[in-house]
Amino acid sequence: MNVMDIFETMEYGPAPESATPALQWIKEHQPFGLFINNQWVAPTSGQYLESINPANGKPLAQVAAANSADVDAAVAAARAAFESWGKTPGHVRARYMYAIARHIQKHSRLLAVLESLDNGKTIRETRDLDIPLVARHFYYHAGWAQLMSSELPGYEPVGVVGQIIPWNFPLLMLAWKIAPAVAMGNTVVLKPARYTSLTALKFAEIVQEVGLPAGVVNILTGEASQVGEALVRHPDVNKIAFTGSTDVGRSIRRATAGSGKKLSLELGGKSPFVVFDDADLDSVVEGVVDAIWFNQGQVCCAGSRLLVQEDVADSLISKLRVRMEKLRLGDPLDKAVDMGAIVSPGQLKEIQRLVAQGVEEGADMWQPSWACPTEGYFFPPTLFTNVSPATTIAQVEIFGPVLVSMTFRTPAEAVALANNTRYGLAASVWSENINLALDVAPKIKAGSVWINCTNMFDASSGFGGDRESGFGREGGKEGLYEYVRPAWEAQERSKQASSTNGAATPGDKALHGTQPVLSGDDDEQANGHNVWRAGDESGFTAALPPIDRTPKMFIKGKQVRPDSGYSRDVVDPQQRVIGQVGEGNRKDVRNAVEAAHAASGWAAGTTHNRAQILYYIAENLEVRENEFARRIVQQTGRPLADAHEEVQAAISRLFSYAAWADKYEGAIHRPPLRGVVLAMNEAIGVIGMATPDEYPLLGFVSLVAPAIAMGNTVIVIPSQRSPLSATDCYQVFETSDLPDGVVNIVTGERDALCQVLADHEDVDAMWYFGSADGSKQVELASAGNMKRTWVNYGHARNWLDSEQGEGEEFLRESTQVKNIWVPYGE
Ligand code: NDP
Repeated sequence: MNVMDIFETMEYGPAPESATPALQWIKEHQPFGLFINNQWVAPTSGQYLESINPANGKPLAQVAAANSADVDAAVAAARAAFESWGKTPGHVRARYMYAIARHIQKHSRLLAVLESLDNGKTIRETRDLDIPLVARHFYYHAGWAQLMSSELPGYEPVGVVGQIIPWNFPLLMLAWKIAPAVAMGNTVVLKPARYTSLTALKFAEIVQEVGLPAGVVNILTGEASQVGEALVRHPDVNKIAFTGSTDVGRSIRRATAGSGKKLSLELGGKSPFVVFDDADLDSVVEGVVDAIWFNQGQVCCAGSRLLVQEDVADSLISKLRVRMEKLRLGDPLDKAVDMGAIVSPGQLKEIQRLVAQGVEEGADMWQPSWACPTEGYFFPPTLFTNVSPATTIAQVEIFGPVLVSMTFRTPAEAVALANNTRYGLAASVWSENINLALDVAPKIKAGSVWINCTNMFDASSGFGGDRESGFGREGGKEGLYEYVRPAWEAQERSKQASSTNGAATPGDKALHGTQPVLSGDDDEQANGHNVWRAGDESGFTAALPPIDRTPKMFIKGKQVRPDSGYSRDVVDPQQRVIGQVGEGNRKDVRNAVEAAHAASGWAAGTTHNRAQILYYIAENLEVRENEFARRIVQQTGRPLADAHEEVQAAISRLFSYAAWADKYEGAIHRPPLRGVVLAMNEAIGVIGMATPDEYPLLGFVSLVAPAIAMGNTVIVIPSQRSPLSATDCYQVFETSDLPDGVVNIVTGERDALCQVLADHEDVDAMWYFGSADGSKQVELASAGNMKRTWVNYGHARNWLDSEQGEGEEFLRESTQVKNIWVPYGE
């Protein structure tokens, strides 16, 4: 071949990166021990696992196989370290984080080569993407460590965090987990994936180099059944952060249910890549390459479903085939290679199986003409056309370089197809029409939407899913909240624990008040209210309350009879019947869910309108203050002055969320690339909620108001013991212009109804404020469609206290952040 030929063909030769320094480093260190308390220790089992280079199938290193005894030791080290690390000033933590980032940069080439060798991904990607992003993550979070006390006042670290990461971005996932956790003052025990531990072990060496205090970071290699499960179940772990498959995520949700462990899950996806007919098709082709052939398609947010507007489909598919023919696949250490190896023979087999199934199901498969290397685990870029949306390959996460394409005609059809999956991780939208792109972006259910770009990541912008892609965010300010908790919680719980020795808790007071009722001129005078008392002309007495009204269910804006045809008694603290409510059942819950879905337009309305309606509800509640106060007295036996205080607090709370409705808007991030990220606080959707027994009105309002202020629609199971404060709200809602179906109320046996709600596939989140056991059941049942949950594990909170009963915690639980990446500037 002469120079002229080369100009013709544009062929280029290999450009291999040397593996020698990395292999030397492995040789010097292996067999690798476990990293506990800044020491390298041999595994208790005495066993080691082999790590394989997927590009040639040859053994690369021996890594320790930890077991549950090692997990105990690592958790104990992390617990001991937490005592001081949790109290270390933010500035000191920031210095350590900054040092880690610097050391990652100093060892960047070694890390990049190690990652390529261990995972099979190309050096082009590890060198230019993974490792720079790892460093960026530590720099970014050094900043949050510095700012924690001023920017997250009232929050403290959660404690010891168990972190479990997958093999597709081994060091990057480690950074996504460790950086925010350690920045916020937690200590961690991290388990890398079985196939890809080496860069985590090099990271452990960096931890030693920078002198991070012993026990802050512990790394245990080994198998899921020995390490992962023990970590998840360990009683002294306060939080689990997991990235991996939806099935394992679901099993972790179930295993941690009721334990009180915080949980964040970043799971699978089947992300749509939507191309409108006015898109720049040549850019689209490069976008597709980055969407599905980047990292051999082993990316949770890979754009694996190509949805193309019908009139440009043929043209795009032809262009894609030409581009696929030119992709270079081979030795991951060759800098001129686009695609490397699949991580393991098992993963390769799974890809082959699903591709064969696609062919069997009738789709047309196309692969380039060139052959893959025979040594190692390789799979060629693959394109399916003529795919029906319900087939396996259109629905299941293949986690390989396999693209399935479908067509659509209208934007509405594109959105319907995009959302036709159980996942909701990411989406990419291509159009030269900004109006169209920004019209579609909010309609796609996904945690990230990339406009005219794809697979963009930055520490400043949170990443995470919706639906069965999990919950919680990594990165951005929102990601920090996964690693902190309100400081009042621990204080309140220790107060409640000591209350078993006689001290009253807010819950006690609200639930079991037995002071004389309604006889108190003192109450009346102290409060300046018109008080109903025994013997006044209304005929109302505490001893003989009227049983004259049976509130029905409140569904779709109407008061409807319970499907069961049964009612249940409501009694006062002396067990006297004070009223009856409908006995809700499965059918009532289903109707309520349907009504809540039908009202989803609520989220699309203006925030101003939502604020106005909340103010109006407050106004109408105020008009009936006496009646509501009396009802609280009846149900709880608390003094009237207390009851008035509760009603006033509920009115104030409605004002708070009316205020927040048009202020909790989101943020704009400026990642270090050409674009901005709109971090939009979006409604979650349909929220099922059980409101607390303590403070029957205030507890109800404190949960319903933030949820609807943020655009959600709700199904409420009110306090079983004191439901009448909620049912009295029907008329308030009816007279306040609240659209039908935004708030639905089903009375009855709280835990049984919650179980139906938590099992329901069309409920997006569950809030539960009741017993410890009920909390556990809600978490367990919610694993079905991976609902986000917020439960109290049986701990009462003081709803009167504005720190505990309102504020950003409630708004965060009412929203999920969607990060929309938009080209911007030069
Ligand atoms: P897994 O979800 O099985 O593994 C992810 C991590 O969890 C690994 O560290 C694994 O350990 C650990 N783990 C596995 N089971 C448990 C358990 N019961 N308790 C605690 N920890 C556990 O993913 P796989 O590696 O098996 O991949 C299977 C499929 O999952 C892929 O084909 C892909 O579809 C999807 N996946 C999705 C990812 C994502 O980013 N969303 C990432 C990786 C995979 P070990 O490595 O020792 O098994």
